[in-house]
Amino acid sequence: MNESFSVNREGHLTIGGADTVALAREYGTPLYVMDEGMIRDNCRRYRRAIDEFYGGRGIAAYASKAFSCKEIYRIVQQEGMGVDVVSEGELYTSLLAGFPADKIFFHGNNKSEGELQFAIRQRVGYIVVDNLRELHTLEHLLEREGQEMKILLRVKPGVDAHTHQFIRTGQIDSKFGFALETGEALAAARECAALRRARLVGLHCHIGSQIFEVEPFCLAARRLIGLMGQIRRECGLELGMLNLGGGFGIKYTEEDDPVPYERFMERVSLAIHEAAAAEGLPVPYVVLEPGRSIVGRAGITLYTVGARKEIPGVRTYLSVDGGMTDNPRYALYQSKYEAIVANRAGEPKTETVTIAGRCCESGDLLAEGAKVQPCSPGDILAVLSTGAYNYSMASNYNRVPRPAVVMVKDGKSRVVVRRESLDDLVRNDL
Ligand SMILES: *Cc1c(COP(=O)(O)O)cnc(C)c1O
Repeated sequence: MNESFSVNREGHLTIGGADTVALAREYGTPLYVMDEGMIRDNCRRYRRAIDEFYGGRGIAAYASKAFSCKEIYRIVQQEGMGVDVVSEGELYTSLLAGFPADKIFFHGNNKSEGELQFAIRQRVGYIVVDNLRELHTLEHLLEREGQEMKILLRVKPGVDAHTHQFIRTGQIDSKFGFALETGEALAAARECAALRRARLVGLHCHIGSQIFEVEPFCLAARRLIGLMGQIRRECGLELGMLNLGGGFGIKYTEEDDPVPYERFMERVSLAIHEAAAAEGLPVPYVVLEPGRSIVGRAGITLYTVGARKEIPGVRTYLSVDGGMTDNPRYALYQSKYEAIVANRAGEPKTETVTIAGRCCESGDLLAEGAKVQPCSPGDILAVLSTGAYNYSMASNYNRVPRPAVVMVKDGKSRVVVRRESLDDLVRNDL
C-alpha cells in the first residue's frame, strides 16, 4: 500500500521503521505520525524532475496549507524548496522557522491590508495578486513603504479538472483570480504595466486539487503561455515566470491511480516547451506548488478504538477517540480512506465497518464501508494518508484538544507539534 509501511514480528504496523503501537503508547492517541524520510523523498522527486525537464530553471514551492508547522518549513527549506503561504499566520510561522522570505509565494483571494503590509515589510518574494482591488492596495502600500515587489497574477485558465467541486478552481465560476476568456486577465496585466512599484513578473494558476489527469495541466500551461505572448504584444511586458500551482493527486485507496510525478512533469514540460516555441517566447522559469503530494501519504493518524456498535442488517460502527476535529475531510468531501488495525496488521481484513468519530454530529465519520482486521475496543486503528489537510484543518469543535504531531525518521520519533492541553482550550477565554 505504501513504501513507508511494514509489519514487524509482533504483527504491528510500522511507519518509517517505528512501531505504531509503541508510538500510540508513548505519545497517546489520537496521534498524527509523519514519515520524514518520505516527505524528503517527495521533495527530491520534484527537485530532480525540475532539474531533468527544465534544466534546473524552476522551483517547487511547497503549498503549506496542506500541513503547516515550524518543522515542515525547516524540512522543505533544507530540501531547497520554496513555499506557498495563504495567510499571515502561515507566513508568520514560516518566517519564525527561518524560512527565507525571498522564496515565499503569498496567495489568497482576500488578503487584508494588514497582511499585505506584513508581507511587504518582511520582503516576501512574490505576491500572487488575485483581483484589482488587491493590486491597487498593494501598489499604494508599496509607495508608502518605498519598496518594490515582484507579483504574479492569478489566472483562471478556464480548465475543467475532474475533481470534487469544492476543490476545483480553474473555471470561470470560481472566487479565485482573473478570468482568461473574458479578457479580465489581460486587462489586469495592462494595469500592471502602468504601475511603478508592483512589478509583474509572471502568471499563476491553480486548477484544483487531487487531480489525476495530466492533460488539464498541459492545457492550463498552453493557455497561460498564450496569454504571456498576448501580454508581451499588447502590454509590452516580458513575463519570465510560469507558476502552475499544485493539485497532483495522491493514492488514498486502491481506486486511486495517480500518474508518477516524473511522468506528469515530463508531459507538462513538453507542453510548456512547445507552447513557448509557438509564441516565440523563451521557456519560462517554472514554479510548481505541490501540497498534498509532498505530505499526504507520509502521514497517518492513530486512534484508540472505543465503542463498537453492531446494528444487525445495517452496519457496524467503530467509534474512535478522534474524528472530524482532527480529520474533517470525510465530512467536507466524503473523502475515502484506508484503515489498518495497527496491532493486528499482519492479519487479513475480514471486517467491514464504519469508522465514526467522537463528536456530536452524525456526519462525524472517517470512513464508511472500510475493510479492517477484526477489531475490538482498545485496539489501535491507523487511518492512512492523513498527512495533508488534516492537522491543518483540525478544530477544537466540542472542545476537543488537537492531537500531537510526531515525526518519524529511521525508526526514531520526535514530537514536532505538542498535543493541546485543556489549558490551551481556555487560553483565550475571559
Ligand atoms: C491548495 C493550493 C496548492 C496545493 O494544492 P495540492 O492539491 O495540495 O497540491 C497550490 N497552490 C495553490 C494556490 C493552492 O491554493
